[in-house]
Amino acid sequence: MIPLDTYFKTLADIRGEELSAEDEELLGMAFELGRKYHAGQTRANGDDYFDGHCIPVSYNVAKIQMPADMIAAALLHDSLEDTTLTRKTLLSVCGKDVTFMVDGVSKLSKVKYQGNDRHVESLRKFFVATAKDVRVVILKLCDRWHNLSTLEFLPEQKRERIAKESILIHAQLASRLNMGQLSSTLKDLAFPYAYPESYAKTMKTIGPRLALGESVIDSMFDALHPIAIDTLGYEPQIDKRLKGVYSAYKKLLRKNWSVSEVYDLVALRVVVNSREECYRMLGAIHSKWHPLPARLKDYIALPKPNGYQSLHTTVMSGTGLMVEIQIRTKEMHFVNEYGVAAHHSYKDRIGDDKQGTFAWMDQLSALKDRQLSPEEYIHELESDFFETRIFALTPMGDVIDLPSGATVLDFAYAVHSDIGNKAKGAYVNGRYKPIYAKVNSESVVDVVTSTRVMPSEKWLDYIMTSHAKSKILKALHHEPEAR
Ligand code: MN
Repeated sequence: MIPLDTYFKTLADIRGEELSAEDEELLGMAFELGRKYHAGQTRANGDDYFDGHCIPVSYNVAKIQMPADMIAAALLHDSLEDTTLTRKTLLSVCGKDVTFMVDGVSKLSKVKYQGNDRHVESLRKFFVATAKDVRVVILKLCDRWHNLSTLEFLPEQKRERIAKESILIHAQLASRLNMGQLSSTLKDLAFPYAYPESYAKTMKTIGPRLALGESVIDSMFDALHPIAIDTLGYEPQIDKRLKGVYSAYKKLLRKNWSVSEVYDLVALRVVVNSREECYRMLGAIHSKWHPLPARLKDYIALPKPNGYQSLHTTVMSGTGLMVEIQIRTKEMHFVNEYGVAAHHSYKDRIGDDKQGTFAWMDQLSALKDRQLSPEEYIHELESDFFETRIFALTPMGDVIDLPSGATVLDFAYAVHSDIGNKAKGAYVNGRYKPIYAKVNSESVVDVVTSTRVMPSEKWLDYIMTSHAKSKILKALHHEPEAR
């Protein structure tokens, strides 16, 4: 069993700084509580549950530079669901914030991908709405990250479902939160289990190039060091990077499996101190290796819509393989890697607290260009998103995303226009309701259809979605005149 002081030491190593006394107090209490309540539980591979899952999940949270209360919540993320720990005890030991987050993660375990890709976007929204807070989403992503790295111990069917869900839901959300690195980690871990044949084909296609790529970037890495010292007067951070296998697969699909179109299988990344040094490094690199002009991207002058900033250039390595080199400052790097999560933690680190705290909301709402205070952001987001959407479920567990006030008939049309056109009523949570009855969030709606039903003019009063309206109008228009 991992002792507390070893745990603290590992956390400090991951974060690159000692824990404060305050952090140690909170984390110590969460650690003891989790250890006590998970005692005796084991994972599918036989490991102790707390040591083998809860602690690693908390390390993941620390790796993406999240604050201590989130690390504490990670230690306890399965405790309400899987142990006899009560909310009341958790609240009295760890306080409101940790309890809120653990509660949120527990609720999220209800959200499950059932294999229907048609409703996957609704499922993503349902996930966010259920989480209510971006910290809960991030915790769930860190939980999934660890689950995926130990997937081999699960039965095959469960493995496939979890892997697909991770690509379609978790990795997508990570990418929307601008946590690109985490998104690609999740996809690469899940890919072999979710789509084994495509994975094998991808590896067969890019395998030899990946091997060549590794040796090419090794030698370019060695050549780049003296150039950087010459140009900058110091040794910058230079990382070697192999492109994610899943993203290579997506690119191969777009490029008709032509591996020569996949330029950025291997990349080097130079992290410097200032924006001016980025451009100086770019010049030095271009005088050493010949660039491909069309592949030069200045995301510093023109950041991507999600805020990503970097210079990208692709150069001829002299071996027939092109290599992408990315150049950016430390601050850009931090934000690019950790996304919305970084916004608050980086601002905290440089001592500018309030300003960036809710920057993540940019990603979830389209409010970016409006100058709103953090409080206004929350309000807008809640009213626009959490409060005005309903997430109802089909008996199969698919999520149907509707505006608030929507009816059984709206639901039926959202499932399929044939079901809408023949809807007679529905069992809502087991009770029979007419087509004009309102639907509530998290209701299970089982639409009853009849071949004798036909849409009528009157139905337009029973619906509120434009989707249902257009389907009804279409049905009325195409129906032969009655009588
Ligand atoms: Mn877990």
